[in-house]
Amino acid sequence: MISVKHLSKAFGKHLVLDDISETIHEGEKVVIIGPSGSGKSTFLRCLNLLETPTKGTITFDGTDITDPKTNIDAVRRQMGMVFQHFNLFPNMTIRKNITLAPVRTGLMSQAEADETALKLLDRVGLRDRADAYPAQLSGGQKQRIAIVRALAMKPKVMLFDEPTSALDPEMVGEVLEVMKQLADEGMTMVVVTHEMGFAREVGTRVLFMDGGHILEQNEPHAFFANPKEERTREFLSKVL
Ligand code: ADP
Ligand code: MG
Repeated sequence: MISVKHLSKAFGKHLVLDDISETIHEGEKVVIIGPSGSGKSTFLRCLNLLETPTKGTITFDGTDITDPKTNIDAVRRQMGMVFQHFNLFPNMTIRKNITLAPVRTGLMSQAEADETALKLLDRVGLRDRADAYPAQLSGGQKQRIAIVRALAMKPKVMLFDEPTSALDPEMVGEVLEVMKQLADEGMTMVVVTHEMGFAREVGTRVLFMDGGHILEQNEPHAFFANPKEERTREFLSKVL
């Protein structure tokens, strides 16, 4: 579904991603872990071109999205993204937050989008908050809404960048639960997280990033049981 070839990204002289090649298949749940500053967010943001790669190509569902002729807005609509800090529109109701993009882009009529929004809100147990504003919700509720908002666009893949890192500990579980449900439904997911339990339980593959490289990767059981690189062992000894 996503094929990354020789991806490099520099900010000025600072090389943040160094010649990464990686393929993500339909239905995979790829979990990316690694120390702060290793390039995890930049890698994720390159996948939907929120960052422009310095070198390399990325194809998504057969389309070379790094080709300047590609309509990147059309591609981005098929890639849902969830951030650490929710990024909900504060001046809009939850319903409006969810329906805005599907209606604006012509994917759905307002009536269809409203119906979809209520169905999705049901799924995450927040139907009764449709007319609330983001400020009236807890962090965990806001993040569940952010996931629902991304899903309203019917994406082919969901990208998560530390979706639980800004939450109070008691709210982490409810967000991970929604992500787990999404994984069970077959969604292709790429998740940057420090939640090793999630990586182990839900991940089909764990990538360890360090210094702009994917230093090692494996299926979760083998990855955690038998990390090969010294850097990986050192990282895991701090987070486990
Ligand atoms: P991670 O998500 O693993 O913590 P990031 O991808 O956010 O790492 O950052 C990797 C490196 O790139 C860091 O050194 C960071 O300071 C740098 N960086 C990230 N975004 C920018 C930017 N927009 N401008 C300059 N440097 C950046
Ligand atoms: Mg980051």
